[in-house]
Amino acid sequence: MAEEIRCVLMTKPRAPLELRRVAAPRAAPGGAVLEMLASEVCGTDVHLHHGRLAGVPYPIVPGHVSVGRVVETNGALADVNGERIEVGRVVTFYDVFGVCGACWHCLVAKAATRCPSRRVYGITTGLADGVLGGWAERIEIRPGVRLLPLPAGLSAEEFMGGGCGLPTGFHAVERASVALGDTVVVQGSGPVGLNAAIFAQLAGALRVLVIGAPRARLEAARRLGVEDTLDISEAGDPAERVRWVRERTAGRGADVVIEASGNPRAVVEGLEMVRDAGRYVVVGQYTDAGDALLNPHRHLNRNHATLLGCWGYEYTHLHRSVQMMARHRERFRWASLVTREYPLADAARALADMETLSVVKALVRPG
Ligand SMILES: [Zn+2]
Ligand SMILES: [Zn+2]
Repeated sequence: MAEEIRCVLMTKPRAPLELRRVAAPRAAPGGAVLEMLASEVCGTDVHLHHGRLAGVPYPIVPGHVSVGRVVETNGALADVNGERIEVGRVVTFYDVFGVCGACWHCLVAKAATRCPSRRVYGITTGLADGVLGGWAERIEIRPGVRLLPLPAGLSAEEFMGGGCGLPTGFHAVERASVALGDTVVVQGSGPVGLNAAIFAQLAGALRVLVIGAPRARLEAARRLGVEDTLDISEAGDPAERVRWVRERTAGRGADVVIEASGNPRAVVEGLEMVRDAGRYVVVGQYTDAGDALLNPHRHLNRNHATLLGCWGYEYTHLHRSVQMMARHRERFRWASLVTREYPLADAARALADMETLSVVKALVRPG
């Protein structure tokens, strides 16, 4: 086994990334080690670098959603179907551990993504916990972390074209209870918004409209089957954007609006786009970007709207979204969303490109 590996370290907010050699991770009993094939660069990594998330134990190895090859196990490993996972298998994994299954959140509220013991790879795990981020040549899979072998025919690039946006967009569409024939508006054209647009169609939406920027992301949305897009850099007035939706919905507004923009002001605007008795899901406010002033009478009470939040995802969302991806890979071609790949040494450039939105999906390729 390798004695040392290279990994990227985010030592503290706003500090330059460092390429470091550290001791190679080893598999604890019931755990494994993966040789990384690819890890994603997402908006969360940009937030981490700006110190916008609470409870992050810097220094950290970023990269929460990743694909790798099993190179070491310590005891038998199996997937949820009971199938053995052998050395050499290409897998992703549910990037969460520590959910206790015993607390009020887990047992009474059945809201496991709010379990206080929940830890996330590459976000709320530091180097002190081990190599638990994907911007590394190898990563430790802790005992109990669920491995998910990629289904036959699905490549690492395809899976990573979805990345964390895949289960997150899936979860948002599930929360929205999209019904057959619905018109769905998605605010935001990043990976979460694009995957929500995909799963809304698979859930039976008649029409999906996407509002976002920049142009490359909106072009991607149209390639994915979205009926129409609105570029917020051209339609700068919120009232104009609300009108754009109403013009396309007989003046009524959309059955479902999914917010995946990250901008608090989008929430008030999105509520203006929902039809009477429609549903609104907020999934884009992953960091605290500030307050929004809404009118409870107009936005919620009088129009009989349902407002839902959506935090993280559970194993079920990753599992089902990956099976859906394997089934619909020809139609949606997720791999085409990967705009650029970077070696470990260029992780800082990947982060900068993600921040300026000059890429749709960026990958770190440790190999
Ligand atoms: Zn718990
Ligand atoms: Zn992510």
